Amino acid sequence: MKDNLVVVTGGGGFIGGHMVADLRRQGCSRIRCVDIKPLKDWFQSFNDVENVVLDLRIRTNCETAVRDASRVFNFAADMGGMGFIENNKAACMLSVLINTHMLLASLKADVSRYFFSSSACVYAADKQCDVNNPGLREEDAYPAMPEDGYGWEKLFSERMCRHFREDYGLYTRMARFHNVYGPHGSWDGGREKAPAAICRKVIEAKLSGNHQISIWGDGTRTRSFMYITDCLKGTQMIMDSEVVHPINLGSSEMVSVNHLVDIVEGIAGIKLERTYDPSAPKGVMGRNSDNTLIRQLFDWEPSTALTTGMERTYAWIYDQYMARERGRGARAVA
Ligand code: NAD
Repeated sequence: MKDNLVVVTGGGGFIGGHMVADLRRQGCSRIRCVDIKPLKDWFQSFNDVENVVLDLRIRTNCETAVRDASRVFNFAADMGGMGFIENNKAACMLSVLINTHMLLASLKADVSRYFFSSSACVYAADKQCDVNNPGLREEDAYPAMPEDGYGWEKLFSERMCRHFREDYGLYTRMARFHNVYGPHGSWDGGREKAPAAICRKVIEAKLSGNHQISIWGDGTRTRSFMYITDCLKGTQMIMDSEVVHPINLGSSEMVSVNHLVDIVEGIAGIKLERTYDPSAPKGVMGRNSDNTLIRQLFDWEPSTALTTGMERTYAWIYDQYMARERGRGARAVA
């Protein structure tokens, strides 16, 4: 198996980059990593991997991407945090071209397993109106009323994976990721998610001496956050399993946004004055992962404590922030 070609799409991104790193650690000798971004912008890249820059919305590029592949992890999507997906619904929906063409190309190339990264954004809005969310069960995606744009695309692509399996025999596997966070991901520029955005804002406040933080919404909305190593482990378990239906892959440690800010303040050793922006993108009131199914199937669930994962994430973003500041300083001097 280790000598079979594994393709990771979206490999220049956050989860894809970590997946490539993990596959290398496990001794996979043939990995092809594909992303639309120029190589210099990939979060992680490795010289011993075949790195290819391709736009996977185009079918012939998908055929090039999966040529001779045994397994395909498809993480490519035009996506970001709430600020991005609320303001770029059409762009998010156009990822359906990636998923359609990747499925067609994988079928043609006779790949043995195909993983699709779905999202908690597929869950119906009326199941997420309370901050005390009891946990979303897999069946709560229907009757369908997912997140507009991004969530509809994910739900549709899940169905396509299902029908490619049922009608054409392609071995598709799916996970519904709930907020994944960790180092080597977006932390500035508009695509970052809450954990990274809060780390950056706390770092900015600490370094500038302006001890204030602006929080999107009123801080009471709740979410759970899964550390990247749990995401990698769960994804590979699901990929290697015989489970054909979409499964929640997320932490069930639900916290409010205010609590997440408390955690980051604790890591930074600072207390900030909070202001709230009710007009900013906020998303549903409460969302958590019900892990009954994944526990039953694998006797496992994501368990990295939020404080542990956030310490590592904060440390990485701090280093990135300082490196950028030093770069600015150097440019100013030149
Ligand atoms: P990311 O944005 O860091 O990575 C996605 C990568 O896909 C990017 O590097 C991007 O350049 C690439 N891409 C976009 N359009 C492309 C195209 N046309 N052709 C080739 N590559 C293209 O995001 P991520 O956090 O690593 O997410 C990976 C997958 O997991 C995505 O499908 C995402 O929807 C899903 N997901 C992520 C989360 C999360 O919290 N990070 C939650 C739920 C689902």
